[in-house]
Amino acid sequence: MRPEDLLRPMPEGLYCPPGDFYIDPVRPVERALVTHGHADHARPGNARVMATGQTLDIMALRYGEEFCAERQVAELGEKIRIGDVTVSFHPAGHVLGSAQIAVDWKGTRIVASGDYKRRADPTCLSFEPVPCDVFITEATFALPVFRHPDTVAEIGKLLDSLRHFPERAHLVGAYALGKAQRVIKHLRDAGYDEPIYIHGALKKLCDYYQSQGIDLGVLKPATVEGGKKGDFSGAVIVGPPSAFADKWARRFPDPVASFASGWMRVRQRARQRGVELPLIISDHCDWDELTETLDELAPREVWVTHGREEALLRWCELRQMRAKPLHLVGYEDEAE
Ligand SMILES: [Zn+2]
Repeated sequence: MRPEDLLRPMPEGLYCPPGDFYIDPVRPVERALVTHGHADHARPGNARVMATGQTLDIMALRYGEEFCAERQVAELGEKIRIGDVTVSFHPAGHVLGSAQIAVDWKGTRIVASGDYKRRADPTCLSFEPVPCDVFITEATFALPVFRHPDTVAEIGKLLDSLRHFPERAHLVGAYALGKAQRVIKHLRDAGYDEPIYIHGALKKLCDYYQSQGIDLGVLKPATVEGGKKGDFSGAVIVGPPSAFADKWARRFPDPVASFASGWMRVRQRARQRGVELPLIISDHCDWDELTETLDELAPREVWVTHGREEALLRWCELRQMRAKPLHLVGYEDEAE
């Protein structure tokens, strides 16, 4: 048996013929298994969806309760039979609820890791290495130039700036699912206990994280109705990056524009976006995390997807590890 008989790329997404399901389909299908709630992996309109309870909750928050006809909760580590195949979900360390999906059939196991990272994140469970024959890895930051610095030190830059510019509002761009809550939680863990102001687009997900036991402290809406610009002097305001381009952002006094993203490693990107205070905080593996994970798992074969595949394929080749690109389309690393 070839592993391609168990999982193969199709226009709809990664398809499992013996189980007749798709993993993270980009088009509506009869049965979907979903790794996590980011919009490029979790889409509405499938008939049946299996995912962790948190991912299902997040999909319902984003798309409404009718996002699919039938939901099935996958408990972490539980073996679930689908047709001739056994599947199990394991923490991926990417965002709340994120999971790798292990697919077992006739003595072969493939792990589709979705998006993942290895460094500590106080808002989700850590990545669990699952021994496998084939490991499917993302390659969002798969170039040796991408080495994400220590997250606590990046948060320290934001706290330093607040001390140096106590009159200026600090606007932090961070994606609505995962990154925003992680930035807030890291600030709290660093001892920052002032209220943090959030854009309306973040409210539902921040409330959900709090309901799941992740203490984000006091969050207030970043609205100025009846107020004055000065109300936000020295405040931290977190919003989705898209909000920073519109007039929402101009209501704040002499703002420091910040952005939390793995892409902030590229100075030109920070400059193009007018980011004064880039924070290199990523929910994806950097180069070292990717290669250390492959070393640790030592799978028979590596399949590389959505990102910069070439350097990682070359790295595998040099270590005589079998590897191939998967050429899946439709994944846009929303969270970065
Ligand atoms: Zn993601």
